[in-house]
Amino acid sequence: MDNKINIFGITKKDLENYFESINEKKFKATQVYEWLYEKRESNPDNWSNIKKEIRDKIKSDFSFNEIELVKEENTEDASKYLFKLSDNEYVESVLMRHDYGNSVCVSSEIGCNMACSFCESGRLKKVRGLHAYEIVEQILKIEELIKERVSSVVVMGIGEPFDNFDEVMNFIKIINDPKGLAIGARHITVSTCGIIPKIKEFSSIPLQVNLAISLHAPTNELRNKLMPINKAYSLDMLIPSIKEYIDKTNRRVTIEYLLLQNVNDTDKCAHDLAKLIRGLNVYVNLIPYNETSHIEYKRSPKKNVDNFYNILVNEKINVTVRRPFGRQISAACGQLRSKEQ
Ligand code: SAH
Repeated sequence: MDNKINIFGITKKDLENYFESINEKKFKATQVYEWLYEKRESNPDNWSNIKKEIRDKIKSDFSFNEIELVKEENTEDASKYLFKLSDNEYVESVLMRHDYGNSVCVSSEIGCNMACSFCESGRLKKVRGLHAYEIVEQILKIEELIKERVSSVVVMGIGEPFDNFDEVMNFIKIINDPKGLAIGARHITVSTCGIIPKIKEFSSIPLQVNLAISLHAPTNELRNKLMPINKAYSLDMLIPSIKEYIDKTNRRVTIEYLLLQNVNDTDKCAHDLAKLIRGLNVYVNLIPYNETSHIEYKRSPKKNVDNFYNILVNEKINVTVRRPFGRQISAACGQLRSKEQ
């Protein structure tokens, strides 16, 4: 593969700079964006309002390769897509149909180095981070397939987005741009296992994007077992960094908490969690576990989920239980890719 930047991976600002660097007016960037994201015409030969000489220059300066859909699994409320990349790697995305619109969960890396013990993605080590265009195209391809718009995006598929920070931020700028996919920042959520320096950096970007933290355990002892990242960035540092983020951005943070039967779903865990996050402007999203080939973990039965939920409610913690999507289609992150390889 050459080192040219892909046309779907360049922010409008960078494209404006590009046009200025070749002595062209920067509004051409808007025209190119309109072809790509409004008219969905990716072949420069058809960009009729741009003269041939410039089109040829664009063709030689950018790459135009696209990700390719290779597999699709559908249920009533969710679909899962497997895409093949130009270096023959695979990534997956999930579409969830809500009554308020379509939401897509995108992958940010090929594999993942975080090695969370319950997660399928971590079984396959990270090969590389995705380029911004490979994340943007997950959404473009899905919109093309379903002939509908995607209204919200969560970066919760394969990979740790803060381990591929710059590309993920470019992706966000492109989908958030009014001339790009025009997805409002409040409809975009990035989920991290808790890479503290990047949480800090994220708090400085001038976009109102939501942050979710995969917490999954209320004590270091337990979190160390589930999430090795906790050995580098333990709860004693993570909780203050979340507080700092909230103070700086004024935005409420989502705390994701996966419920694993008899591992982290006990009364004690619920009380410890309440204590840990008391006073923070957060809400807890309890996630039913999608069972995978990690046979040691079981989905918490409904009675444990209800119990955990009720304890948090009594402790005056904002809490919701995530509706499980696409159980029949191996929708837990990494499951489809894991089967393919
Ligand atoms: N690396 C990021 C984003 C990808 S994982 C993060 O850690 O947040 C997205 C979410 O799915 C995380 O909360 C992760 O812990 C959770 N998850 C992983 N495996 C799962 C499974 N089998 N069932 C349900 N959720 C899972």
